Amino acid sequence: MAFRTWLLVFFLVVELSAFVLQCVDSKYIKYNTTSTIVPGKLNVHLVPHSHDDVGWLKTIDQYYLGSNNTIQGACVQDVLDSIVPALLADKNRKFIFVEQAFFQRWWREQSEEIQSIVKKLVSSGQLELINGGMCMHDEATVHYIDMIDQTTLGHRFIKEEFNVTPRIGWQIDPFGHSAVQAYLLGAEVGFDSLFFARIDYQDRAKRKNEKSLEVIWRGSKSLGSSAQIFTGAFPEHYDPPSNFYFEVNDDSTDSPIVQDDINLFDYNVPQRINEFVAAAVSQANVTRTNHIMWTMGTDFKYQYAHTWFRQMDKFLHYVNQDGRVNALYSTPSIYTDAKHATKESWPIKTDDYFPYADHEHAYWTGYFTSRPALKGYVRMMSAYYLAARQLEFFKGRNKSGPNTDSLADALAVVQHHDAVSGTEKQHVANDYAKRISIGYKEAEDVVAASLVGVANLTSKTGWSLQNKFQQCPLLNISYCPPSEVDLSNGKNLVIVVYNPLGWRREDVVRIPVINENVAVWDSSGKEVESQLLPLLDVSVEVRKYHVKAYLGKSPKTTPSYWLAFSATVPPLGFSTYIVSSSKRADATSVRQEYKSENRKTDTIKVGSGKLKLIYSGNQGKLAQYINSKSLVKETVQQSYSYYRGNNGNQTVKPQASGAYIFRTNGTHPIKSEDKATFTVLRGPLLDEVHQRINSWIYQITRVYKGKEHVEVEFMVGPIPIDDGIGKEIVTQIATTLKNKKTFYTDSNGRDFIERIRNYRKDWDLQVNEPIAGNYYPINLGIYIKDNSTELSVLVDRSVGGSSIRDGQLELMLHRRLLHDDSRGVGEALNETVCISKKCTGLTVLGKYYLKIDPIGEGAKWRRSFGQEIYSPLLLAFTEQDGHDWTKLHVPTFHGMDPTYNFPENVAIITLQELEDGKALFRLAHLYEVGEDKDLSVMASVELKKVFPNKKINKITETSLSANQERTEMERKRLVWKVSEEEEPKVVRGGPVDPAKLVVNLAPMEIRTFVIDFSY
Ligand SMILES: [Zn+2]
Repeated sequence: MAFRTWLLVFFLVVELSAFVLQCVDSKYIKYNTTSTIVPGKLNVHLVPHSHDDVGWLKTIDQYYLGSNNTIQGACVQDVLDSIVPALLADKNRKFIFVEQAFFQRWWREQSEEIQSIVKKLVSSGQLELINGGMCMHDEATVHYIDMIDQTTLGHRFIKEEFNVTPRIGWQIDPFGHSAVQAYLLGAEVGFDSLFFARIDYQDRAKRKNEKSLEVIWRGSKSLGSSAQIFTGAFPEHYDPPSNFYFEVNDDSTDSPIVQDDINLFDYNVPQRINEFVAAAVSQANVTRTNHIMWTMGTDFKYQYAHTWFRQMDKFLHYVNQDGRVNALYSTPSIYTDAKHATKESWPIKTDDYFPYADHEHAYWTGYFTSRPALKGYVRMMSAYYLAARQLEFFKGRNKSGPNTDSLADALAVVQHHDAVSGTEKQHVANDYAKRISIGYKEAEDVVAASLVGVANLTSKTGWSLQNKFQQCPLLNISYCPPSEVDLSNGKNLVIVVYNPLGWRREDVVRIPVINENVAVWDSSGKEVESQLLPLLDVSVEVRKYHVKAYLGKSPKTTPSYWLAFSATVPPLGFSTYIVSSSKRADATSVRQEYKSENRKTDTIKVGSGKLKLIYSGNQGKLAQYINSKSLVKETVQQSYSYYRGNNGNQTVKPQASGAYIFRTNGTHPIKSEDKATFTVLRGPLLDEVHQRINSWIYQITRVYKGKEHVEVEFMVGPIPIDDGIGKEIVTQIATTLKNKKTFYTDSNGRDFIERIRNYRKDWDLQVNEPIAGNYYPINLGIYIKDNSTELSVLVDRSVGGSSIRDGQLELMLHRRLLHDDSRGVGEALNETVCISKKCTGLTVLGKYYLKIDPIGEGAKWRRSFGQEIYSPLLLAFTEQDGHDWTKLHVPTFHGMDPTYNFPENVAIITLQELEDGKALFRLAHLYEVGEDKDLSVMASVELKKVFPNKKINKITETSLSANQERTEMERKRLVWKVSEEEEPKVVRGGPVDPAKLVVNLAPMEIRTFVIDFSY
């Protein structure tokens, strides 16, 4: 007892003496943070950053405001607020900010005083805005046009407010990296480098070993070195080396702070310097040159920026005093310039970084398909936004609205790598869809007003504006109130059909109607060929359920038919068609039911044009594809299967299939139900084959008389889960093609990349997941070929797909899973649709297109028809009551010179009136070098014919994101040394002669112009 008392007294005395010493001797230390690059030393570039997802576990608003913090303690407003004083406190400190959707919102809320401080921080380089799009877009499930649009939106804002152009691509979190990101959204926007974290774990190991994490990436075969970019994959992840993490109140990673008061306990400066030097040397061992980057931050950090900067100040001070390595405050720009200055030669990287796996059984290939309905919605709205901006341009932009800006904003944020990717929580997915829907509503008004404006140019009466154009965004579920009107009492339905493409187009338009005796006339009064197809029960059910679920009401009528007719539409213009009652009803399809009992016939032939599909009579299965024009005759089978989603109950390295990851526990073919009816509808325009595959898969196969491809519409869901097993639904198309493990998938809808099953070009692949590890993202299409034939499949949205066996292609159409895959989202991917509180699994409706060609002929269809899939005809409806519409209105509108038609290899991907009245105009060559014998050539577009009624005062070619002149961008571009031999000469279109105004485009070239018209 006595001893213990004595001990206590002893400790008290020691404690007190320490306290006294502290009071006497603690003093102000001025940390030296002035260090810059020191040649000859290992330079550790500390890059302070915060990774702020534009929606993931919380919605974008919740992340910005810091609400809903029980889900995740994250408040981006706090990050930005706390950065400003932290940077002002020491001019050597630096910070990068990435996500413009957050930054712009914050910026608008700041006082002029803060704005002027921030402008100074930006111009001094202390605060650098990099990447600069509205979000850090995904790279697998996004279309290149959406990537360009969302980047342009951010870059132009930065240019206007700060007069700077972002230099760095910072795609640190997306789950694999695309060729299009490197060459198009990297080099072509004028970036000097691109950085990211996530590459395959096997690839990473090899690259660390060979010091090839940093490369010169040539993403495009066609544009080669003219669009290459210095690229760095981080050695681990985008957070700091372990033990150098300093967010306040974050217990998850407890790094020791630098305790540099020698009079206090736990003084640790020597130890912390040693740890710093050791971590630096270890990274230097896998990096070329004596520059390494430390990413000092991670998700939603710097909410109290001072905690990080205080520690980094101390490290700079003491590490540089120590002198073994040199530490400095840096940015990716400073780092890139330092790398460039070394004159090192870099290895070349081609193709892309897909698929991404973070361990043997964790291939992030599920998200290529996750949330297929959201993916479909995004694609549909992307096309609508493109067309709406064209119509807005023709009419003249309305500054006070309505305009297309809110659709632009909604589409921009949904390109985020936890949005269209399908890896967000359900409530966040709903938030994105709601934003798009609100944006659409406004754009719909713009389109309607534009069409009225253009159509009324010759209107002699004052009745114009009461005839508002209506549109049908739910046409896919056969819901279109304006076309479902009773025409038997003499009413006429007017349909304006707008074509956003630069070439003339013929297509079959379909609308639901309630009358049987109807016919279609063109604006010259000539009847056009039409066909009625009965609306079958399955479609009526889907329509009824989803109209109630989405609109909260039941449809008033039930249409009996689809009316299909041939529309011919001029480029960048519209045609008008009139539907009215008619005694003639001979256009009704002939309906043939093939019941399984009496399917005695050997074969059933479908298609009345050049293309015929042969089905086996007794099984009702597709057997053959015959094209009498191209002379292709190929055995084809088409089927459905599901992969059983792995539930992750392994004892070693457990891994479930989930929103990100695809991991199967076996394949199950889905057999057609024996009693299933096989129905064929035949008519003058098209034949349809209706097949109920099982109680939750229905399929319609269409063969158009005038087309040589097959259109397949699928309806999948609700996927049953009552057996406790999650399912991933695929469709397979099997042929006899000998493709030798090789197939091709597109990069973001643009370049096709060769894929070889169970093989990677960059390393010796250890195959652990023979199915999931061979999946690739598809935005445009997938194809295989052998010596004589090619089989192509094009898609209407982003999906995952592969060729798992020779001759075969497969697409994953839908997934419903019951387990979380442990990558953060914390929810199983189990989507439902609800009416009131009653929910059922989500049904997905979509299309894919199939064509078989002689070898060398497939590209024409994939590229030119692919663009038509992306940009469908836009339909608007109004009623004609007593007046003759076509006499009083412009029935045919030509946005361009009526004699002009774009070459088949060029698309207008942007035509938009900017806020300052100038026009943003982008053209894309659709073909790669060597892809097609006729169309992989230099193409030219005559601007005088594109804008016949306007005088072009000035035309300026810009970077892809329209934030700087192209010549300026080229002048600034860093030239890098590469370690490999010369490449073939790269061809590009030359400068535009202001007198001739002809734009030349080389294969795969996209050219962006800002045009100043004088009126
Ligand atoms: Zn992220």
